[in-house]
Amino acid sequence: EADEALLDDDDADGSDAFAAKPVGVLAVVGRPNVGKSTLVNRILGRRVAVVEDTPGVTRDRVSYDAEWAGTDFKIVDTGGWETGVEGIDSAIASQAQVAVSLADAVLFVVDGQVGVTATDERMVKMLRKAGKPVILAVNKIDGSNSEYLTADFWKLGMGEPYAISAMHGRGVGDLLDVAIDQLAKAEKTSGFLTPGDLRRVALIGRPNVGKSSLLNQLAREERTVVNDLAGTTRDSVDEVIDIDGEDWLFIDTAGIKRRQHKLSGAEYYSSLRTQAAIERSELALVLFDATEPISDQDLKVMSQAVDAGRAIVLIFNKWDLVDEFDRQRIERLWATEFDQVTWARRVNLSAKTGWHTNRLHAAMDEALESWDQRIPTGKLNSFLGRIQAAHPHPLRGGKQPRILFATQASSRPPRFVIFATGFLEPGYRRYIERNLREEFGFEGTPIQISVHVRE
Ligand code: GDP
Ligand code: GDP
Repeated sequence: EADEALLDDDDADGSDAFAAKPVGVLAVVGRPNVGKSTLVNRILGRRVAVVEDTPGVTRDRVSYDAEWAGTDFKIVDTGGWETGVEGIDSAIASQAQVAVSLADAVLFVVDGQVGVTATDERMVKMLRKAGKPVILAVNKIDGSNSEYLTADFWKLGMGEPYAISAMHGRGVGDLLDVAIDQLAKAEKTSGFLTPGDLRRVALIGRPNVGKSSLLNQLAREERTVVNDLAGTTRDSVDEVIDIDGEDWLFIDTAGIKRRQHKLSGAEYYSSLRTQAAIERSELALVLFDATEPISDQDLKVMSQAVDAGRAIVLIFNKWDLVDEFDRQRIERLWATEFDQVTWARRVNLSAKTGWHTNRLHAAMDEALESWDQRIPTGKLNSFLGRIQAAHPHPLRGGKQPRILFATQASSRPPRFVIFATGFLEPGYRRYIERNLREEFGFEGTPIQISVHVRE
């Protein structure tokens, strides 16, 4: 009657069964107006980047699935920045830096019509430091009669400059051959798009709880980045969003904004999409509408994330509309429907006004810290010794099951394996879990406990 223990530490390196097959990531960088967006659109073979023209606002980095000559890769696009804004140079540089840190190889685009500029030279310095392979594309070489303009760019010291015309497609195929070659050779630093330094967040909840509103509030601007390729999965878009100085990767923001659910019969599709986002995430932000009763669908979405073993932050949104009646109803709910997740942090906020969104960051950090936490075996066993002495397992059939030894088999989420002389009853497991949480925290993460019976 013992549980199957999971002793293999398969996710110690951060990968897990849900991780997608690693593909190469190509960052497209360059100063404004050199033609990065034009090039990205050409590579993707469709118009994707529809960006609001708000002067002085920098667009967040966006990644796209791409394919060339049978090889899948991802493009991180940094195009679309406004020119002529004060301090834009440093803004470009730092945005590009993040894009480069996400990438396995870099496509550095310059403008053949303009020639080498001081900004190009500054970017070269940054790229050198980053140490990623760089392919230099000299754009706007629209015909062979302007080919000679390419030669000037040798002096950047970034190797061979490749002449292209993003607008007409000239030279783009050859450029991609070189880029794919570099990606194939590159050490895959990025795994499934994100490097170790960006945490992956799924923003989930039933329709109309305020997911898009919160996303926009966090990104502090309205953005539309994807065209409508309904029903395809290749249009999954992740976005890097800065929350109080820390970058987070929000999974499938296209799915959040798309409003699939507003189409008929799309519920199944939208729940598949939620599941996929959870699987790729480390942390789930689960949204509820505080002005409405909690529905089965609300609870189902939450369980999906808990069952998948993700770190969790619960968000009660639309707090700007909450009155005393709602407040009491929610406190009652919290004590009943949510009693399985009392370990999760709850943030009441308003996506609309931004009220208390500044509380998210700490809750997200805390949940992921718990999710990552490892308790050394010695410490764990002395702790279990203590709580067992304080409250031994009840006698069963004249015998008393004893804990012999325990170890934390893995983290993300924390999984404990306990070896005992007999089956531990559910109440006693809860006692152990409660004490584990009291002693070591684990706020915001599910924990799993398996028991192995040793006679
Ligand atoms: P980004 O700011 O680097 O993303 O640049 P865009 O892609 O927005 O392009 C800036 C301008 O250069 C636009 O007016 C494009 O039409 C133009 N452009 C882009 N690629 C080419 C090209 O290959 N040839 C020419 N002649 N113009 C181009
Ligand atoms: P989604 O379907 O989960 O992405 O939800 P939306 O972000 O589209 O929001 C659904 C509706 O709720 C929209 O009419 C929003 O304007 C509204 N809404 C979202 N957040 C809030 C909030 O914090 N306060 C108020 N009053 N309305 C909100």
